[in-house]
Amino acid sequence: MDFELTPEQMDIQKAAREFAQGEFDREKILEWEQTHTFPREIWKKASQLGFIGIHFPEEYGGQGCGVMENTLIVEEFCRQDSGVGIALSLADFSSELILRFGTQEQKKKYLVPVTRGEFISAGAYTEPDHGSDITFLSTTATKARDSYIINGTKTFITNSAMADFFIVLCQTNSEANPPYRGQSTFIVEKGAKGFEATEITPKMGIRMTSTGELSFSDVEIPTSNLLGEENKGFYQVLEFFDESRIEIAAQALGIAQGAFDRALDYAKKREQFKKKLVEFQITQHKLADMATKIEAARLLTYKAAWNFDKKKIDPKLTSMAKWFTARTAVEVADEAIQMLGGYGYLTEYEVERFYRDAKITEIYEGTREIQKNTIASALIGKLS
Ligand SMILES: Cc1cc2nc3c(=O)[nH]c(=O)nc-3n(C[C@H](O)[C@H](O)[C@H](O)COP(=O)(O)OP(=O)(O)OC[C@H]3O[C@@H](n4cnc5c(N)ncnc54)[C@H](O)[C@@H]3O)c2cc1C
Repeated sequence: MDFELTPEQMDIQKAAREFAQGEFDREKILEWEQTHTFPREIWKKASQLGFIGIHFPEEYGGQGCGVMENTLIVEEFCRQDSGVGIALSLADFSSELILRFGTQEQKKKYLVPVTRGEFISAGAYTEPDHGSDITFLSTTATKARDSYIINGTKTFITNSAMADFFIVLCQTNSEANPPYRGQSTFIVEKGAKGFEATEITPKMGIRMTSTGELSFSDVEIPTSNLLGEENKGFYQVLEFFDESRIEIAAQALGIAQGAFDRALDYAKKREQFKKKLVEFQITQHKLADMATKIEAARLLTYKAAWNFDKKKIDPKLTSMAKWFTARTAVEVADEAIQMLGGYGYLTEYEVERFYRDAKITEIYEGTREIQKNTIASALIGKLS
């Protein structure tokens, strides 16, 4: 057993930290947060330096690294700033599905611009009536001669306002039994006739990413935009979640660490009753609790990433990393606000944003309850 990062991984971690410290400008971040603006300039630079899609093969513009390296980058970015970190982490959201199931042409056409910082991607699974349960969908894709016709509505879609293409999960066979055996994934480009994306605002956190509703009204797309095999979409998306949930855990880990850093720094400086806050034993214990939870969350997240890269796919472990790290982020950010007192409640001191941004990691890519369902069903197995 070896708990050390490799020298290459340490270099990537250091490079990501230095990039975030140098480029994430505080004044601009406060402005972007207030105006709900995607940090486009930083995303472009991060892409040029190879941070976006580092886990994609070199032939598609990536660095040929694994999920572990991507985890380190997302953690460092979110540690420096939860809002920018999440916006950058999700800029290539769902394009892993193309990497896994796409044709050579689809990979060249979509992944290369994603890693170059020219295209933003999105994944559309949730519908107004189908959230945690996507085993049946109302959005349909009906086969015509050389095309499919998509009708329906997707909601809560990240990057809705600015994505260049969307991976859309549709019901292709409404008679399938069970229904999830009749679902397929498609690539829909922005600007397709009959396709409309609208933004849902305002929202609690992650204000530098857009979230919106997609409507499809007889949207005709060529059969070449089908991803992988017809009626295998549900299984593809589940496989993708095994990877993407590790990325959400990495977001939460960075947020927890970033909130902790700020709390520790503040507690060392702030004096009350003629003592620094860190001199009160209760503060010391709070810091110890926060650091312990973060360390446990980091071990789970890194192990999930390490396993994934070793092709030991373990949905149970991924779900453990996802829910535990997300909960840790919410609890640590909450405690950080408490430690800063009234200042923690002010935008300027950042921890309130970390708290608001932390919460989404407990909801998207499967809620905490859904992660626990996955863990429990793996533990219990089939009842005879
Ligand atoms: C900001 C934001 C960004 C998002 N981005 C995307 C995106 O890019 N693409 C996308 O497809 N979706 C996205 N989502 C949607 C997100 O994945 C869903 O909101 C989430 O899966 C939960 O679905 P729901 O909101 O319909 O809640 P519901 O499924 O209605 O759940 C409501 C509550 O019931 C609980 N619950 C449901 N079923 C069970 C059960 N079997 N056992 C126990 N408890 C249960 C849930 O845990 C939750 O607490 C995003 C959501 C938000 C808020």
